[in-house]
Amino acid sequence: MFQRSIDFIKTVFPRKDFIALHEPRFIGNEKKYLNECIDSTFVSSVGKFVDQFEIMISKYTGAKYAVAVVNGTSALHIALLVSGIEENDEVITQSFTFIATCNAIGYCKAKPVFVDVDKETLGLSPESLQNFLETNCEIRDNECINKVSGRRVRACIPMHTFGHICRMDEIKTICEMYNIVLIEDAAESLGSTYKGRHAGTFGKVGAISFNGNKIITSGGGGCIITDDEEFAKKAKHLTTTAKIPHEWDYTHDMIAYNYRMPNLNAALLVAQLEKLDEFLSDKRELALQYQEFFKKEGIEFMTEAKDCRSNYWLNAIILNNKQERDQFLKDSNAQGVMTRPIWTLMHKLELFQDAQCSNLDNSIWFEERIVNIPSSVRL
Ligand SMILES: *Cc1c(COP(=O)(O)O)cnc(C)c1O
Repeated sequence: MFQRSIDFIKTVFPRKDFIALHEPRFIGNEKKYLNECIDSTFVSSVGKFVDQFEIMISKYTGAKYAVAVVNGTSALHIALLVSGIEENDEVITQSFTFIATCNAIGYCKAKPVFVDVDKETLGLSPESLQNFLETNCEIRDNECINKVSGRRVRACIPMHTFGHICRMDEIKTICEMYNIVLIEDAAESLGSTYKGRHAGTFGKVGAISFNGNKIITSGGGGCIITDDEEFAKKAKHLTTTAKIPHEWDYTHDMIAYNYRMPNLNAALLVAQLEKLDEFLSDKRELALQYQEFFKKEGIEFMTEAKDCRSNYWLNAIILNNKQERDQFLKDSNAQGVMTRPIWTLMHKLELFQDAQCSNLDNSIWFEERIVNIPSSVRL
């Protein structure tokens, strides 16, 4: 039934007996910088590549400050901690996300609350957010209190699914109305913009991931971006064992984390970042090829919504029902074409069975229908 689609994917990624969903590309200065890094002996948490990377990412995203960390999950964790999220606070996010978003909330001993996603963006729906807040919450002493749980709603984490940016203007307005900190899970959206602004720069803070499957990678790595100098300083402090800067003294003023990105990883990342624009244009071309093909096939292909320029990190098709989805997964994977369904929705996981949820119709609808198809850069 889907043989034409599978054959098309094989022509888009020629000369392969196995086509991965998303593999990294190292076609620039990776080896050169890694060698330089090794020769310098500064392979660990201090070194010029970490500093260089932070400057580059801040320039690229337009965020004033960037703090490099060991992975995207730790970036989210620190983003929440510096935003003041405490035990028993509630954090609103989407059920349609990767577990990392909720793990970070869990590390703070806070509770996730799940709202729905938008049909156009696959990201957190402003209507669902507003509806949840209007129905369940009120402002008391400048704090947003959930009347159902009695807990304080402290933050909202929209996630830019597969690189498609949420409707940030509306989300930001709602968060401001309810005095909720806006934290973006921009793990998947390096290179994506909304109304010309880069992902992760709409709220207080954004978290980016450089895991091996992301658009560019440091092996493992992440980054916190913010315009707030105080916030950036605190983030840096918390990720570097809260060591008070001094020529030789080891003094620490709180229990903190060893989350600093090693220079070795940053060396790889600087080389990757130099190639990002080339990667982005190849991914855009691939998405166009897919779009044209699937249009002819009568299969829905996920394209960028109004005002959003997507990095097309992972391409997605939307099939008619779960049976078709399962058939596509089965046929493609049997032929060495790696395709995947979306993550099990967070509210379905046993560990979040107590979490409060809004209506999640769109999330459930997508879960049954979306298939991610091979999306690697082909350069
Ligand atoms: C990749 C990813 C993260 C962070 O992942 P790390 O592997 O810790 O770098 C967070 N949220 C989402 C939605 C992701 O896709």
